[in-house]
Parts: sequence; structure tokens; C-alpha cells
Amino acid sequence: MVQEQRELELSWLAKSFETRVWALEKQKDEQIWQLMLRTMELERLRSSLQLENESLQTISRQNQTTIQSLNQAIDLLHRENEEVKSHLAEDVGSCCDMADVTTRVEREGGVSGDGDKLGVRVICGGCGSTEACVVFLPCRHLCACDACGDDTSLCPICREEKSSSITTLVF
Ligand SMILES: [Zn+2]
Ligand SMILES: [Zn+2]
Repeated sequence: MVQEQRELELSWLAKSFETRVWALEKQKDEQIWQLMLRTMELERLRSSLQLENESLQTISRQNQTTIQSLNQAIDLLHRENEEVKSHLAEDVGSCCDMADVTTRVEREGGVSGDGDKLGVRVICGGCGSTEACVVFLPCRHLCACDACGDDTSLCPICREEKSSSITTLVF
């Protein structure tokens, strides 16, 4: 009887041990599964970060391209500005040259009493007696007095047709 009981106990122990082992294995499986899930999640995160990084690099490259083209545009504007300036200087030069021929430029020596700071007076190319104060457009020649500026349709200096005119302020 004692022997039987012991066998029974032993088999019960063995069963319960098996059950525990099975539970532990199941738990382990569960943990492995969880780890796999987390690994997969991390992989996914990593690839999305990689994508993000790549797109950021693309944006950064695009920004650099934009900055480069902006710099080029600024350079171009600078060059155009310089060109316009030198053209203007040429124009002013040629205006003075031609003014010597067609109008009378008087260079007043000493202190000028009438407040002409440059000491240069341009005489009207129309009447030849009054100081010129009207600039013809588009040629930009300062070439006529108020009265002649209204009457004349061709610039007395370069003969270009007047589209409009500006009356200058003489201090
Ligand atoms: Zn005049
Ligand atoms: Zn002109």
C-alpha cells in the first residue's frame, strides 16, 4: 500500500513538474515572441528614420541648390548694376561732350553767387540763352529751358524723339 501511494505521489509530482515546465516554456515562447515583435518594431523605426534622414538630406541638397542659384542671381544683379552704372557714366560723359558742341556749357570760376554748386550751367539747346532745366526722355539729355522743352519734340543734342520730359530742380 505504501509503495502504491509513493508511486502515485511520484507520478503526481512528475505531472506537476511537466505542467510547470510546459508553463515556463510557454512563458519563454511568449517572451521570444515579444522580443521578435520589438525587434521588428525597431527595424521598422530604423528604416523610417533612414528614410527621413534621406529626405532631409535631399531637402538640404535642394536648399543648397536654391542658395547657389540665389547667389548666382545676386551676382548677376551686381554685374548688371555695375554695367548700368558704367553705361550711365558713359552717357553722362557723352552728354557733356555733345553739350559742348550743341549747347554752351559755362564753367564759372570762383564762388558762384547764384547757388550753382557744381559751377556748371547748361544753356538751352533750343533758344541758346536760358539755362536748361528740362531733361528729355528717353535719351535723358538735360537740353532745354522750360519754354523750349514744351515746344521741342526732338532732343537738340542727339535728335532723338522726345517721349516725355522731366523738369529738374536747380538749387
Ligand atoms: Zn530755350
Ligand atoms: Zn538727347
